Amino acid sequence: MRTAIFPGSFDPITNGHLDIIRRASLLFDRLLVAVLVHPSKPGCLPFADRADMIRRVTADLPNVTVEQFTGLLADYATSQGARVIIRGLRSAADFAYEAPMAWLNGGLGKGLETLFMLTSPQYAFISSSGVREIAALGGDISRLAPQALENQIYAACNRTE
Ligand code: ADP
Repeated sequence: MRTAIFPGSFDPITNGHLDIIRRASLLFDRLLVAVLVHPSKPGCLPFADRADMIRRVTADLPNVTVEQFTGLLADYATSQGARVIIRGLRSAADFAYEAPMAWLNGGLGKGLETLFMLTSPQYAFISSSGVREIAALGGDISRLAPQALENQIYAACNRTE
């Protein structure tokens, strides 16, 4: 049973995240999407809502599970039987941010590998922060985030369309 973990803030999940989840779910027996709960960084959407939203839009993917976690990713991944961490790459800037994290996680002695998946080009410009900002200003997020979640995102970002 090969388990991979896709950790992130997912505040909120975007079409770019969903694309990575779909593609990664084809490569592993089980994909655990793990929402990092960072109590000092509450963000926009409540942590439990972020996980529920991911569950709703991945309901058609039987080998995807969604959980929240706190603390060290390396410890959590190991406790879940995952030896592979999936991260998405949109740009060289992502690589510059991600590479040291991968080296740090790999160096924690748990046999963890980080696999980078290149974003599909149509999602390369999408970020959670962009979705939050556009939603807060009442802009159109229909191409950026799953449509089933739009109302919830607008409500959480405190504006109506
Ligand atoms: P974090 O706070 O851990 O960066 P995010 O929710 O912002 O959490 O991102 C989680 C992962 O998804 C990261 O590896 C990030 O690079 C990747 N990601 C974010 N947006 C996209 C996208 N549009 N296409 C592919 N990967 C993405």
